[in-house]
Amino acid sequence: MTIVLAHAAATDIGLQRTTNEDAYLIQSPLFVVADGLGGHLAGEIASRLAIETLSACAGDGHEALTEAVKEANRSVHEQAASDPQFHGMGTTLTALLAADSSIQIVHVGDSRAYLFRDDELRRLTQDHTLAERLAREGKISADEADRHPQRSILERAVGVGPEVEVDVYAIDILPGDRLLLCTDGLTSMLSDSEIRTVLAEERDPKGAAGRLVAEAVRAGGRDNVTTLVVDYPNRAGTLLDASEEADKTIAAPQGPPAPERPASHPNPGTVRSEHARDPVRDPVREASDAAPRGARRAPSGRAMMIGMLVLVVAGGGLVSRWVLSNSWYVGKRGGMVAVYRGLHGSFGGIELSSLQKRTDIPVDSLPEYYQRQL
Ligand code: MG
Repeated sequence: MTIVLAHAAATDIGLQRTTNEDAYLIQSPLFVVADGLGGHLAGEIASRLAIETLSACAGDGHEALTEAVKEANRSVHEQAASDPQFHGMGTTLTALLAADSSIQIVHVGDSRAYLFRDDELRRLTQDHTLAERLAREGKISADEADRHPQRSILERAVGVGPEVEVDVYAIDILPGDRLLLCTDGLTSMLSDSEIRTVLAEERDPKGAAGRLVAEAVRAGGRDNVTTLVVDYPNRAGTLLDASEEADKTIAAPQGPPAPERPASHPNPGTVRSEHARDPVRDPVREASDAAPRGARRAPSGRAMMIGMLVLVVAGGGLVSRWVLSNSWYVGKRGGMVAVYRGLHGSFGGIELSSLQKRTDIPVDSLPEYYQRQL
């Protein structure tokens, strides 16, 4: 079966990064976004390698797709092992395989898939981040997880370990459904409510994908940002090609303009997720404030220390306390990964941080690349 859907993608390097480590694939009915990690050129290589592997391996059905993700994992991992400068590199991967009345999603990391239906936005995937797991376990609130400086720390990524666990979702589709795949450069800059508004106002997928990216950049663009919008036609029956995209696109180009359009969208229905798994227990990625990836990261310890000194000398005790209480970093305690509030180090004999959470993640279970950053 060959189906062709209206679709469009957009990506932008953002305002603070020197390379775009995001990548996407349009190979209808397969759509993928990936967000590389690893620093230097490694992240870029990891995301592209994973997507190319998926492109070559993907067949019908989620089992073939899941196997393709595992093959991508092996490809990235082997590449990382072949060259010290690529050691520890990996990538998120969120892939959507569309059929007439259902979709399959395979997912690793903190890129996301959303369903926009009946003017409502529903997140379909679960982030494999430390912050989201702590929120699921009730140890921090969802709001704290959203604002957590280390919320982009991944516990799972493609290519970081020899094997990878893949989440698989099956969702029934209704006419008029719109799907959004995106990297965390979007979701770290825009709220779900802001994303919903754009998807409601921009009926054309190209307009929606472009405006989402443009608004993330306008909001600060702290990370690379990539969006991919897939629209099912409003009426059941023949699926129409309303896209100007090539049938197959692998890319991470600069962001497009952001056209403004009015809109409406709708269609009632239900969503069924067959996703079922325990909370993440197998960490493959941790990163400190100095890590190469992650939006809204707290300022570096040295920069913050200088800032602290200035503030203290200026008598800004209140401001200093605010800085201390709003800074976080990831370190280790008793051989386990731990989250601290404050700044690493001491000043005038006073420790500037306090232990907030000792996780059950053994430091030595992490790849060396991440151990060195703790
Ligand atoms: Mg990112």
